[in-house]
Amino acid sequence: MKIGQYDLYSIETSEFSLDGGAMFGIIPKTLWKEKLSSDRLNRVDMVTRSLLLVNGDRKVLIDTGNGSKWAKKYLDMYNIDFSNYDILSSLKKNGFETDDITDVICTHMHFDHIGGNTFYHNDIIEPTFPNATYWISKDNWALANQPSVKDQGSFISQDWEVLEKNNMIKLVDEKFLDGIDIYFTHGHTDGLMHPIISDGNKKLFYGADIFPTHAHLPIPWVMAYDLHPAKTMSEKSKLLKKMYEQEWILFFEHDPFYQACTIDMKGKCYCIKSVVEISE
Ligand SMILES: [Zn+2]
Repeated sequence: MKIGQYDLYSIETSEFSLDGGAMFGIIPKTLWKEKLSSDRLNRVDMVTRSLLLVNGDRKVLIDTGNGSKWAKKYLDMYNIDFSNYDILSSLKKNGFETDDITDVICTHMHFDHIGGNTFYHNDIIEPTFPNATYWISKDNWALANQPSVKDQGSFISQDWEVLEKNNMIKLVDEKFLDGIDIYFTHGHTDGLMHPIISDGNKKLFYGADIFPTHAHLPIPWVMAYDLHPAKTMSEKSKLLKKMYEQEWILFFEHDPFYQACTIDMKGKCYCIKSVVEISE
């Protein structure tokens, strides 16, 4: 798919699973089990999916997935699985290498979004994208380096320490790259950046963790991980209205089935209008 100056590629980086109760907050399993399946440990099967934007030499990767720096205990706990693809194989499939990436937009610093920022090379942690600037929001940087008791398990400093040491991080609180707008939300976590790519015809919104899957389209279906769930609901409400009225494309970072979709409304409830394929 092409939007404006950018060619878009969907880059699947891992399969993994999180607890179904945590994924759906107050919504009972009797409802969410109709949308997503769960295993015997009640974990919902999902993916980590990045979006690559290419305009000539500029190659912008949005989020990097779970990454590979995991001890077996956590691979088992989160059911992290690279047997079908990983960030390297998915880039390669589309003709790209890690050295090609010029910019990494970190929507927020939870481990399943920036785990692939760094990797172990001979037991030493190194940047996965040695030629990239890593863009992080000021508010989320402040939180990640001083998390609350509730969200401290979601931030792992190995995902950014070497980048900070090598001066590869730029902290931002507004638009920073040509042709990519940034929409901030604060319900899931402080200063979550949602890139928006648009031209005269099409507009794509990067859903990140306020729309992790298509099952999270109904406004009250928000994750128990959210720092401020009521705020997420009002942020979703505003965004869904715009997406529905203006026919935006919504990109899903964690949906096991769909890369993206457009939005319809049935009664008072938002739902998928049509599934959108960003790339094969
Ligand atoms: Zn998150």
